[in-house]
Amino acid sequence: MFSRLLQAWAQRRDQARLQRHAIPDALWELTLLRHRFLQRRSAPDLERLRTLAALFLAGKEFSGAAGQDVTDEVAVSIAAQACLPVLELGLGWYDAFVGIVVYPDEVVARREVVDDDGVVHFYDEALSGEAMPGGPVVLSWRDVSESNEWDGEPAYNVVIHEFAHVMDMRDGVADGIPPLADAGEHRAWREALDEAYALHAHAVEADLPTAVDPYGAEGPEEFFAVSSESFFIEPLVLREAHPRWYAALSRFYRQDPAAEAA
Ligand SMILES: [Zn+2]
Repeated sequence: MFSRLLQAWAQRRDQARLQRHAIPDALWELTLLRHRFLQRRSAPDLERLRTLAALFLAGKEFSGAAGQDVTDEVAVSIAAQACLPVLELGLGWYDAFVGIVVYPDEVVARREVVDDDGVVHFYDEALSGEAMPGGPVVLSWRDVSESNEWDGEPAYNVVIHEFAHVMDMRDGVADGIPPLADAGEHRAWREALDEAYALHAHAVEADLPTAVDPYGAEGPEEFFAVSSESFFIEPLVLREAHPRWYAALSRFYRQDPAAEAA
């Protein structure tokens, strides 16, 4: 009884939020025009994506940094792309953070590493985006915009990349293994990931063309993130190169974008 009351309350809250944050028709049309990979989706999928994006906008706090203005166009572009991976899973996957910080361009981050002798080394890293435990998610608007125009292979999409990291880190560790349904699913994921990652790392090492961004060879967590970009942007390419891994991602996301792209 109590849970039913809670459910009814949540539905009313969502409805009120939707009314306040509904995405206007013209802005939604513009967002779909900008993101061609969204246009492949069925009309009912896109309607649900629009609702989810509106709830996302209601629940998250966007801020601009280094002079970046977060216009409605910027916020809706990010929201629509961020919601695609959780279209069948729900926004609960993004509960661990609230803030999204948008920079005009790449962000230079000061990094430090400790070597085997205990000596600390500092270096600078240019980031197109970053997701960290507890948030915020940081994005470079230039990179978000450029991924809209990206036409080549491997796929490139910084929003999907960072939000895949958020999903991966939901269990506290960024290891390329998000929380999964059960032990059997975990085993299947592990096997598919290990196999695809080994193939990918080998190809990158040998300087051969790869189905996903070569950056994925940095580690299994990056491989999951770049594979997720391909899964949503160039699903046929990913399925052909890594069928078992594509199937694992398809079970996890509960989506089969290759079927719609075929
Ligand atoms: Zn990454």
